[in-house]
Amino acid sequence: MPPFKTPAWMLKALDERREQHLFRSTQVVSSPQTTWMRQGDRRYLSFCSNDYLGLANHPHLKQTLSDAAHQYGVGSGASHLVCGHLDIHERLEQALSGWLGYERVLLFSTGYMANLAVISALASKQRPVLMDKLNHASLIDGARLSGATFKRYLHNDVDSAQKHLQSLDQPGVLATDGIFSMDGDRAPLAPLVSLAREHEWLLVVDDAHGLGCMGHEGRGAIDLEGLSAQDVSFLMGTFGKAFGVAGAFVACSQDMADYLTQFARPYIYTTAMSPAIAATVLASLELIRSDEGQQRREQLANHIQLLRQRSAAWPYPMMPSDSAIQPMLIGQSDDALHISAALAEAGILCKAIRPPTVPPNTARLRITLSAEHTHGEVVHLCDTLDAIFNDVSE
Ligand code: PMP
Repeated sequence: MPPFKTPAWMLKALDERREQHLFRSTQVVSSPQTTWMRQGDRRYLSFCSNDYLGLANHPHLKQTLSDAAHQYGVGSGASHLVCGHLDIHERLEQALSGWLGYERVLLFSTGYMANLAVISALASKQRPVLMDKLNHASLIDGARLSGATFKRYLHNDVDSAQKHLQSLDQPGVLATDGIFSMDGDRAPLAPLVSLAREHEWLLVVDDAHGLGCMGHEGRGAIDLEGLSAQDVSFLMGTFGKAFGVAGAFVACSQDMADYLTQFARPYIYTTAMSPAIAATVLASLELIRSDEGQQRREQLANHIQLLRQRSAAWPYPMMPSDSAIQPMLIGQSDDALHISAALAEAGILCKAIRPPTVPPNTARLRITLSAEHTHGEVVHLCDTLDAIFNDVSE
């Protein structure tokens, strides 16, 4: 039998991506996820990981994972609703509820699934979805999956949100990222809470990039804005970023959790998170809430401040952000690729983010900082960027 032939439409789509400098591929990393990473035969200082607190390679968490694998095994074996919900999942859910002040928490294996689950379960032909234009793809996909009327308001623009909301005749679901993943800026959460309350809409906040990194005991963007569990119907967070592990959760009321348990298909029809991972996330949460967590947040804040000070000398603007995500707005994809390649040449890993991940003509260098970076390493990044930009201008 001859092998399957690649269809012409597929080859054409790939060619188009290449021609537009938008072709994506994976690169193999052969070291732990720390600030120094090995790719091929070279070590790089990395500024592109979401391991914001530097916990992915933390000795205590590695030990916890290994101990938990011995205690619980490596797989949960079934979905939460069959027999995959172990006592360690229950303990983690309760610890997260206590941390954030919610009645209930549900666990998911990824943040992508958590967002698909919540939005697709809540929205329907009778309940529209309204969300920020720059929300994460998983929230957008949840809205598409629901088949509901779906509108997007201008980024962080509460007036635009209000106009759209008033144009819809039934209350629905308002959703926003807490910290935007490709921009690093924070949503205007307090006015969005007021808007949702006033019109009796449900509010979903995805704080994948704020939880752990900011707020009292790392309670994220909501805490920073003086809000709490009473204000946000569904709070989503991930464990693959500041927590340094993997997975995600949704926090809500008891009734809302019961509703998701009946109707959220990406919750029901999938294997529960590995119990060893659940145990490690629990240890990570304890660390995040501890003095060590606080010190790590302070270290991260110092790095952010330093980078922003030094960036004043660069020809490209930094986007307005006080989070660990510090994107430099370049514009054209090939220019962004060029700067990323120059950094790689100098031993620094920092990826160009291009359309369709970001809007056309807003390609950027997404610099992410970690508490695990040393002051000297952040200075080195800044010196290297200075040198690259000086070379270009000469
Ligand atoms: N929400 C946001 C805002 C994200 O940035 C991401 C991941 N990049 C996700 C959800 C998905 O989370 P996960 O990686 O756990 O699937």
